[in-house]
Amino acid sequence: MARIVMKFGGTSMAGTERIRRVARIVQRQQAAGHEVAVVVSAMAGETDRLVNFAREANPLYDPAEYDVVVASGEQVTSGLLALTLQALGCKARSWLGWQLPVRTVGAHAKARIDDIPAEALIASMASGEIAVIPGFQGLSDDNRVTTLGRGGSDTSAVAVAAAVKADRCDIYTDVDGVYTTDPRIVAKARKLKTVTYEEMLELASVGAKVLQTRSVGLAMKEGVRVQVLSSFIDDDAPPADSIPGTMIVSDAEVEGQDMERQLITGIAHDKNEAKITLTRVPDKPGSVAHIFGPLAAASINVDMIIQNVAKDKGETDVTFTVPRTDLARSLAMLEAKQSEIGFYRLISDAHVAKISVVGVGMKSHAGVAATMFKSLADRAINIQAISTSEIKVSVLIDEDETELAVRVLHTAYGLDAVDAAA
Ligand code: ASP
Ligand code: MG
Repeated sequence: MARIVMKFGGTSMAGTERIRRVARIVQRQQAAGHEVAVVVSAMAGETDRLVNFAREANPLYDPAEYDVVVASGEQVTSGLLALTLQALGCKARSWLGWQLPVRTVGAHAKARIDDIPAEALIASMASGEIAVIPGFQGLSDDNRVTTLGRGGSDTSAVAVAAAVKADRCDIYTDVDGVYTTDPRIVAKARKLKTVTYEEMLELASVGAKVLQTRSVGLAMKEGVRVQVLSSFIDDDAPPADSIPGTMIVSDAEVEGQDMERQLITGIAHDKNEAKITLTRVPDKPGSVAHIFGPLAAASINVDMIIQNVAKDKGETDVTFTVPRTDLARSLAMLEAKQSEIGFYRLISDAHVAKISVVGVGMKSHAGVAATMFKSLADRAINIQAISTSEIKVSVLIDEDETELAVRVLHTAYGLDAVDAAA
């Protein structure tokens, strides 16, 4: 017997029929002899609808009241799932954020989970009752409803799993696992059996949007074993206990188990960045601080940075990327500081994409970056910027070449599935 937390996303909860399918999956998990808690999202599209209501009611909305409104989507689905489980003959009850309570800290609309006292929950689960918990919501110090930021119910599920010391947190979604790359781009993309927390963090933050990044960070910190799997399955599909999805686990667990792992685990692409270049910046101490200080103060996240020192000229070009949505703001801010920074021209390009190869295997292998550069060069794809971490190499290229680059790299690192259709 194990203790399992199951989480179902918005597409899995969209409507009575789908909730009934979810209820059958939950019932089956309990019938396998496990103690079960379920964390649910609002129905797909519902949170957007609620956000719009709040905006229409008052464009300068009070975040505390915004949270009251947007948290309601999950209240509906948790009650509906409990009702549906009861209709199947299961013992089930809902536990709203304030009832557990899910204690949060930080600002409304982007609160962070601090603590979930789990004694009552554990006792209820042990008595054979299925606990149904709305994701995304919590309770502040002063007993107001809070929400965790969009996509936050993944984080709720991992936090509940940590609190009840679950053996596994199964995150059911509309894809059946984590893939080597986006299967819509590469038909031969393979589903991964395992991926490490670190790899998943890199893949999530560079654009493979399966889980909220924060939930992966929390799972890593708390050592929660997470499986990503599909809820769109038939009643006779292999059970979750047979691990049909992708397990997200520690480095140590992967090293011990998956002998056939490739050097590179996955390839991600991200079209959400824009490139800015400042030409002829004076090459002296403080120049770069003058550029990035104001951007940081405006909470603009700079990602890739290149600066080349031209010793003989006493000046240098500085290129970096910012989120595309912050491009206009960044340019306005830099223009206003032109004389202070002392650059000559300000050039920007929003038509770029960041391609990243990710894999813990590269910690112990040389030549990963060289393979990437050579493969792209062979297809005449120009690299505009490069950044690396211990387990990732990213390059910035022309957006139009995204698909080609991903395909070429997928093949170059031997990731193409042998048996899939070409
Ligand atoms: N319903 C919330 C959202 O759409 C939370 C979630 O689904 O994870 O952002
Ligand atoms: Mg989600």
